[in-house]
Amino acid sequence: MSNSFNNLGLSQEILAALTAKGFTEPSPIQALVIPEFLREQANIIGQAQTGTGKTAAFSIPILESIKRDGTIKALVLTPTRELALQVCEEMYSLIGSRELRVSAVYGGASIEQQIRNIKRGSDIIVGTPGRVMDLLERNVLNFENIDFFVLDEADEMLNMGFVEDIEKILQTTREDKKMLFFSATMPKSILEIAKKYMVQYKVLKVENKELTTKLTEQIYFEVREGDKFEALCRVLDFEQDFYGIIFCRTKIEVDEVTKHLKTRSYAVESLHGDITQSQRTKTLAEFKEKIINVLVATDVAARGIDVNNLTHVINYSMPQEAESYVHRIGRTGRAGKKGIAITFVTPKEMSRLGLIKKIAKADIKKQDIPAIKDIIKSKEEYLQACVSEIINENDFTAYAKLAAKLLADSDPQTVLASLLRHQFQDEFIEESYAKIENNRARNTDNVKLFVALGKKDGMNPRKLLDVLHENCKTPGRKVRDIRIMDKFSFISVPLDEAEIIMRKLNRKNKTMVEVAKN
Ligand code: ADP
Ligand code: MG
Repeated sequence: MSNSFNNLGLSQEILAALTAKGFTEPSPIQALVIPEFLREQANIIGQAQTGTGKTAAFSIPILESIKRDGTIKALVLTPTRELALQVCEEMYSLIGSRELRVSAVYGGASIEQQIRNIKRGSDIIVGTPGRVMDLLERNVLNFENIDFFVLDEADEMLNMGFVEDIEKILQTTREDKKMLFFSATMPKSILEIAKKYMVQYKVLKVENKELTTKLTEQIYFEVREGDKFEALCRVLDFEQDFYGIIFCRTKIEVDEVTKHLKTRSYAVESLHGDITQSQRTKTLAEFKEKIINVLVATDVAARGIDVNNLTHVINYSMPQEAESYVHRIGRTGRAGKKGIAITFVTPKEMSRLGLIKKIAKADIKKQDIPAIKDIIKSKEEYLQACVSEIINENDFTAYAKLAAKLLADSDPQTVLASLLRHQFQDEFIEESYAKIENNRARNTDNVKLFVALGKKDGMNPRKLLDVLHENCKTPGRKVRDIRIMDKFSFISVPLDEAEIIMRKLNRKNKTMVEVAKN
């Protein structure tokens, strides 16, 4: 296999563009696909892990082979708007001095503008199926002359239910085009479509000998379902530089985790299929700029997020398959940077973890959830480091006068301690953290509580959860069997949580919560 772009039969223009882009050698999938594409008429199915340069693997030979004639010569379908834009951008960066126009089309943005753009003359269209269909129906797009048809992230396209659209689009293309499917995983459904539409094809696959990257440290926590949220907060609290994605299984779970994290003031946003395109774009921009450092997402929504320096990936819900595990954790430990992948495993899920370890050939080590005292220690160290940095940089003179005033009446230690208390509230106080059962599942330790708040106080389940959360930091998922009566309510919570709730809600002269008498 060649380890230079020079041996792949590429033109000087493209080689110059590659050099300018800083690509020195082809990635394995590129080394397989590019010569095959240029040599043969065969259709290609390319499979390689995420982040291995599949975009350039099809873009380079397409740009090399395209014969401009004023009509559209290539169509690339992608599952999401981000991917369409990324592919479009990558193509432009590879065009070099050649005159070619690439247009990206996708939903959630002005169709008129896209129409104007296409009408200025496009050689290549990169788009999402829905918008492409729309533009076909308006006779703005015409694929009768295309030489190349690409399905990017084919597995995801099928997952997202784009099959019908894809088939309709294919029917408008000419017979003897070259077809290319690219995907990180290769479910049967892709091969079925391939068989249906490609008379012949070659599968070019980069084996994942090392499915998971060495730069990613893989650990798991054994955690009870009801303790997951608390465990998540511990990780976020422990890692002062946390910058990562939290994977959930469903949209509902994404929403729930995000909401609870927001109530605890983490800088967090969510991504899933029901999030509007403009919100999604905003969230991604904020994440890239690190305005938010936590992103909660479903697998599908996280596809195509191009961020290289994540410190963490957290599998809040265990992935269903080994491939999806590999996919998720492949988002950290990239570009020479170290990363940590943490998987939350409930006792029931231990066997699935075993399976994932085996299939993904992954060494996933058990670790304990950070203990409260370690979190506080880590916070203290961080605070100390910040303080010495500020002292060293002499960056506090604006506050010197105020400091002198504050010190006038009390001793320095008292003043400083009060300031810390004011700034950090109970962040450094061990008792303020919720407990986690680190090992076995115990289902019998739920306590039924009587709460003296009912419908007449404006309660409904949601409101009651809010009250508990605001006053006791009780995560909503720990509260079961909520029953709201006229004048009071019942809830079930784990024993330790019950203690916290009673301590926080009961005042000296008023009992708001007590253990229900059955
Ligand atoms: P995939 O589609 O396989 O998930 P991408 O095509 O998005 O991966 O590529 C991942 C990253 O690697 C991109 O930032 C891309 O610019 C970069 N990349 C691709 N090919 C090369 C190469 N030959 N040398 C260096 N970087 C590359
Ligand atoms: Mg890709």
